[in-house]
Amino acid sequence: MTDRPLLMIPGPVEIADEVLAAASIRPPSHLAPDFKAAFSRALKAMRQVWRADDTHQPFVVAGSGTLAMEAAATNLVDPGEPVLVVNAGLFGDRMAEMLRRRGAIVHQVGSRPGGTPPLEEVDAALADHRPKVLFVTHVDTSTGVRSDAQGILALARRHGALSVVDGVCATAGEPLEQGAWGADVVLTASQKAIGLPPGLALWVASPAALAARRALTVPPPMVLDWLQWLPILEAYEAEANSYFATPSTTLIPALDVGLASLLADGMPAVWARHQRAADACRAAWDAMGLVLVADSPANTLSALSWPDRVDAGALPRIAARGAIVAGGLHPALRSTTFRVGHMGDVTRHPGRVRRAVAAVGLGLRDAGGDVDVDAGLRAFDAHV
Ligand SMILES: *Cc1c(COP(=O)(O)O)cnc(C)c1O
Repeated sequence: MTDRPLLMIPGPVEIADEVLAAASIRPPSHLAPDFKAAFSRALKAMRQVWRADDTHQPFVVAGSGTLAMEAAATNLVDPGEPVLVVNAGLFGDRMAEMLRRRGAIVHQVGSRPGGTPPLEEVDAALADHRPKVLFVTHVDTSTGVRSDAQGILALARRHGALSVVDGVCATAGEPLEQGAWGADVVLTASQKAIGLPPGLALWVASPAALAARRALTVPPPMVLDWLQWLPILEAYEAEANSYFATPSTTLIPALDVGLASLLADGMPAVWARHQRAADACRAAWDAMGLVLVADSPANTLSALSWPDRVDAGALPRIAARGAIVAGGLHPALRSTTFRVGHMGDVTRHPGRVRRAVAAVGLGLRDAGGDVDVDAGLRAFDAHV
């Protein structure tokens, strides 16, 4: 490991050497036998990572998480149909705007930044509005808050609504069981807790979600259309030739390697190491006098208030101490907060997470903050 600063933002993240090697190949043909075999393995692995059975369909499309969101918004809802967005921050706002542009009747339940809407309010909104689809952000990356995805999905099922989980900052970092919890779509992007370079939109759809697409009156834009992609993905899973739009022939082999390594550890162990890294970081923040924005903080990132006398001018000082962290993102918190990602491969290496914690503490101190770095590191060490 060199002295380069660690990339500790909420995506893109540090990637494993084996994933880097898999992505660093001369781009093969999209019809090359090895490529088709890697694509097939990656699709099968997605079901296991998402904890979905063979009736569920994985999708891999070149793009980012936002593309997966837009695909969900346009494949499940016809103009004029009611939907409910359980909105915990910036990405809930984005989802609601996409649905509005689709012509849906958008109902929302929200909360102050850092909170999540209470289950009773979600329940009441489902009863009042009878939405066709409920959309929830598992981890809102603008405040670092984690939703009670399992509880919300149970309510959606009880009210007969389809459900979409924006797992972009959560999938593989936070426990989620798509099959057992009854999520119809769980979407993410390659550059977050999955631990790849940016460039792939990933989602898994249930049979009910696919049936809802088939029943649409107004088809989605062609490149976002699940039914356009479905035969392509089925062909790749069977290692057969197909073409609709060129897949990323370098990132998909990296996806194969990345997902295989998650499954070699086992998802419960992967979730547990994210939990351990997050617990150690939170103990360190607390000992350094740093305050989290979220009531129920995610295991994949920490959104923290700047300490007294410090602002975003500290970001380069933190980088100079060895970790690139992110500024605020939520419109109401942009100037008062910063965010540290702790997801993906780095959670396999507690020493690297510790380096990032030290860099945050030292950088804040360099910037004039009153931060007890040693106390922070002692608290960190007590947790790993
Ligand atoms: C990062 C993120 C997105 C957007 O993903 P992109 O890959 O940047 O398009 C959407 N939702 C959540 C919760 C995210 O964290």
